[in-house]
Amino acid sequence: MSNVIRSVSCCDDLAEADTLTVDEARRQIIDKINPITSSEKLSLRNALSRILAEDIISPLDVPGHTNSAMDGYAVSGNDLPQSGEQIYQVIGKSLAGAPFNGNCNAGQCVRIMTGAVMPDGTDTVIMQEHVAATATDTVQIGDGHRPGQNVRQAGEDISAGGTVLQTSHKLTPADLGILSSLGIGEVKVRRRPRVAFFSTGDELRSIGESLAEGDVYDSNRYSLYGMLKRLDVEILDMGVVKDDIDELRNAFSNAASMADVVITSGGVSVGEADYIKPILEQTGEINFWKIAMKPGRPLTHGRIGNSLFFGLPGNPVAVMVTFYQFVQPALNYLASGTESLPWTMLATSSNNINKRPGRYEFQRGILEQGAGGQLTVRKTGQQGSGVLTSMSRANCFILLPENCDGVSAGDEVRVQLFDTFI
Ligand code: AMP
Ligand code: MG
Repeated sequence: MSNVIRSVSCCDDLAEADTLTVDEARRQIIDKINPITSSEKLSLRNALSRILAEDIISPLDVPGHTNSAMDGYAVSGNDLPQSGEQIYQVIGKSLAGAPFNGNCNAGQCVRIMTGAVMPDGTDTVIMQEHVAATATDTVQIGDGHRPGQNVRQAGEDISAGGTVLQTSHKLTPADLGILSSLGIGEVKVRRRPRVAFFSTGDELRSIGESLAEGDVYDSNRYSLYGMLKRLDVEILDMGVVKDDIDELRNAFSNAASMADVVITSGGVSVGEADYIKPILEQTGEINFWKIAMKPGRPLTHGRIGNSLFFGLPGNPVAVMVTFYQFVQPALNYLASGTESLPWTMLATSSNNINKRPGRYEFQRGILEQGAGGQLTVRKTGQQGSGVLTSMSRANCFILLPENCDGVSAGDEVRVQLFDTFI
């Protein structure tokens, strides 16, 4: 009998019709987003990490000229010795920025430096280390060289008229290099999402205020700021709002009038001072409010006016877990129109981990790499949803999906690094 009761209660989260799995919640969030389409022109340096709003068509071949990949001697591939050695007359030199203006004939070669234009009549470079000097203006080259070697062909990296970067691409340091190599100094990028956030709770005090019994310093606004700062979004910090229905209603409409996305923390459970869900019901629309996960079970998702709304739980760890799992992918999709799931990898667990089937658990772990590259992960101690040090010591989540019923030390588990989400 007790077995039956336990097996029902352990899965009752998902048995509730309005409780979503983590995957279902992610899907529903993405399905409600219309990616930003408006754009602005930015100079190259300011465009790093921004999302392109245009295809970049190359105006040039890169490299622009066929040139040498080595310091050495340029010759014709048809004129290489078939066997033994051959003496060549050095008829001049070609430097990067100072090409040789002449023709190179059989029995002749041109001293050439890396990046210098290949002289007419040459298509092959012999490294200087493979050449013996015989007199001041002659060199000796042996056999075994391949016609065409050590030469970079015009347009071999990028050809004029080709699409180099596609719209919706997020610009990386390499892309800034490519764009500048094409002489492009400005690009059209999408507007960044505007994100407003505030904490809710009568017990919350700001830094500098004194704490009465039961008060706590507001930490969620700082961890949220930190996570948002690492994304390319505009941040609007709206402070702390009391558990007061009128003040909350005002804050909601204020935030929604300014931002694409509104994030709150706290007040989403079903306690007496939990007003977020009823206000969203009155002033906007609720998409869902329960996910079978731990921590982070109550998460209210919906819309106020034209803004997406995320009512994150109050507990500091739950705020960070739900942000990484739902808000960050949503912001990335809003900004780029490209869906990207967080990267995960397999690691050997150093611990036994207790878990009952039912909810998806995100335990905090420390992932380490051994000398041979093998990955092991261990838990960061206490896993309570208020234990924020479990997040600060961790570098990854240990992913324990709904149907997982525990892990034994030595088992493989899937982990997700915090800072490698795309
Ligand atoms: P709530 O969801 O509002 O019931 O809050 C759950 C727990 O998280 C309570 O212990 C709150 O005091 C705590 N909490 C809520 N918001 C914050 C915050 N901004 N900073 C630190 N702790 C918070
Ligand atoms: Mg509260």
